[in-house]
Amino acid sequence: MEKKADTSSDFSQNNPFGWNAEQFREMWYVFLESIVEENSSSLVPRKRVRYQIEQSCQFRDIAAGWDSMDGSQRLDAWKKLLVAAEASAREILPVCVQCGECCRMGSPTLHADDIEALRSGKIPWEHLMTLRKGEPARSPFDGRPFVLPGEKIKIREKEGSRECVFLDGQTDRCTIYPDRPLQCRAQACWDPAPAMDLANQPALTRQDIFQGVDLLLEIISEHERRCGFEELTAAFDKLSESNGHDVDDVLRLLSYEEHFRQFVCEKFHIPPENAELVFGRSFSEMLGLFGYHAVDGPDGTRVLTPETENPPSDG
Ligand code: SF4
Repeated sequence: MEKKADTSSDFSQNNPFGWNAEQFREMWYVFLESIVEENSSSLVPRKRVRYQIEQSCQFRDIAAGWDSMDGSQRLDAWKKLLVAAEASAREILPVCVQCGECCRMGSPTLHADDIEALRSGKIPWEHLMTLRKGEPARSPFDGRPFVLPGEKIKIREKEGSRECVFLDGQTDRCTIYPDRPLQCRAQACWDPAPAMDLANQPALTRQDIFQGVDLLLEIISEHERRCGFEELTAAFDKLSESNGHDVDDVLRLLSYEEHFRQFVCEKFHIPPENAELVFGRSFSEMLGLFGYHAVDGPDGTRVLTPETENPPSDG
């Protein structure tokens, strides 16, 4: 949130000598609006901010005595009021210092307001991924595991971490800061409420992004029908009920899903870097969330192993 340094001097140019009480109030509300606008994010309750500024400077006393002041007293009082209001705005409204802390704890989910940044290329497609309905996930607020009740589009994270791909690791700065998603604008380490409010609003989906591209939407829906997380979860439940013996359904789904995405990407020239947006993460990438990993033997046979028995190496 950048702040203009000379807001109060702009308003001091207007001459308060001849204002009556009504004009004084009008000018005050124009000024107040300008500092709230400069400091507030779209989700901060503006009414509360206005109220707090008025409480913390001498607005009420000055307003009450305005008509009894002479011209130079009015000028003096007006200048003091502007300076006091700007100072209290800085105290009331903490600002993001771009330390990068939020950006290292997970990438943002996109909302309807972000679609323009996607369409204009300010947020490139290859940096997006889809989390599908039914996918196992962890809450960004308390880390608890849960199953995603609906689809989400997120900015990708750097491999092996939760850090957003747009965070510059050298400077800790966001490389798309002026065009950052709505969730990043709502994120405030001093107040989790705006981000939590936003989490309850509908997230962007592939239906929104690919609106009008009917063939692609049909393929996506076929992929969901054949390779949905409900089926994968049922296959893992079966595996668990058989004490780890009945691997057939899981292996069949893994193989089918792999071939499906490979076939469609080749046939329709979908670049590999866009596959995670079109189809979400592959089943083979998700095995860890179910406590397994897969190893391909030299003869091409795939073996499923519980992670506790033989955890995959970092390499
Ligand atoms: S888009 Fe920018 S502000 Fe948002 S999490 Fe990524 S680096 Fe941080």
